[in-house]
Amino acid sequence: MPDGHTALKPAQLTDSFGREISYLRMSVTDRCDLRCTYCMAEHMSFLPKKDLLSLEELQTVADAFIRRGVRKIRVTGGEPLVRKDIMDLFNGLGQHLDGGLEELTLTTNATQLETHAEALVKAGVRRVNVSLDTLDRAMFQQITRRGDFDKVMRGIEAGAAAGLRIKINTVALRHQNAGEIPRMIEWAHERGHDMTLIEVMPLGLTGEDRYDQYIPLFEIRDELERRWTLADEPSRDTNGGPSRYVRIAETGGRLGFITPLTNNFCAGCNRIRVTCTGRIYMCLGQDDHVDLRAALRESDDPQAALDAALDRALIAKPERHDFAIDRPDQAPALDRHMSVTGG
Ligand code: SAM
Ligand code: SF4
Repeated sequence: MPDGHTALKPAQLTDSFGREISYLRMSVTDRCDLRCTYCMAEHMSFLPKKDLLSLEELQTVADAFIRRGVRKIRVTGGEPLVRKDIMDLFNGLGQHLDGGLEELTLTTNATQLETHAEALVKAGVRRVNVSLDTLDRAMFQQITRRGDFDKVMRGIEAGAAAGLRIKINTVALRHQNAGEIPRMIEWAHERGHDMTLIEVMPLGLTGEDRYDQYIPLFEIRDELERRWTLADEPSRDTNGGPSRYVRIAETGGRLGFITPLTNNFCAGCNRIRVTCTGRIYMCLGQDDHVDLRAALRESDDPQAALDAALDRALIAKPERHDFAIDRPDQAPALDRHMSVTGG
């Protein structure tokens, strides 16, 4: 390149519907120390380790996305904090916080948060989403099929003490936690945590009847409105995401609703997902994907191959998902578990 010329910045990631992709969700493992009934089967077979991207490969993929304009990365799984040496990846990704990246965050079940909270803060993480579906020890056992409730509570406390802002994510389950949700909201808001409720989605076989687990969130919202004053927050989501938020006057806290089944949220979707095997899924609810692992492992010029793969992915990002959960006998809409794609 002649002196005095600056390198052309690679094109930003804009899909064929004009949505600019600025948010990457990256699954770093399909493994987990829990077996939540709506997420996994009791006896899951996990992917062979050789199929997973190495931490270095995950870093290379993230670097490519950041070069193309991704400003927020959420690390997820499976349970991200059970992956060996995962802090190396957080530290590597954190280096970009001085450059193109604006936010580095994760979604976790908090079983290992007590151990990692301070290191996460050091790496540059400021907020975490913690998945917690109940405050009842016995119910926690029933929903997660294993897991140490006290350890999770200690993890949440350690996260807050280290300075992490915590949002509690709760999947609404008709027969397990639906009646407990107001108490959970009070608990979260008393501690200064936002909370988001999620409708159960038909992803992967779990050995449970999804139709039986499912409760539409408008039912829960109606119940909350009988009890409290809910005021819609102006923007759908500060991150162009799928949550709609309200402020509850009596608790002073924020509550989000993610309603993929009863209310389609795709129009403003600015996100893309990479699995722990290096597949880009352009939509959580569809099977189309582009394989980054092949680009990384088989090309002489991995950077150019990754860029070409990203371009292919953008052309293929669909306008919307097509979930439905309206028949009791229904097979999962997708054969892929959330733990593989990354929730
Ligand atoms: N293990 C971490 C955790 O639980 O936070 C991260 C991965 S988990 C797959 C991410 C999120 O997906 C969690 O909030 C979980 O409750 C949610 N999730 C998993 N399966 C789901 C399903 N079938 N429908 C709706 N949400 C689901
Ligand atoms: Fe594990 Fe998260 Fe799935 Fe629960 S929701 S089984 S914690 S990956």
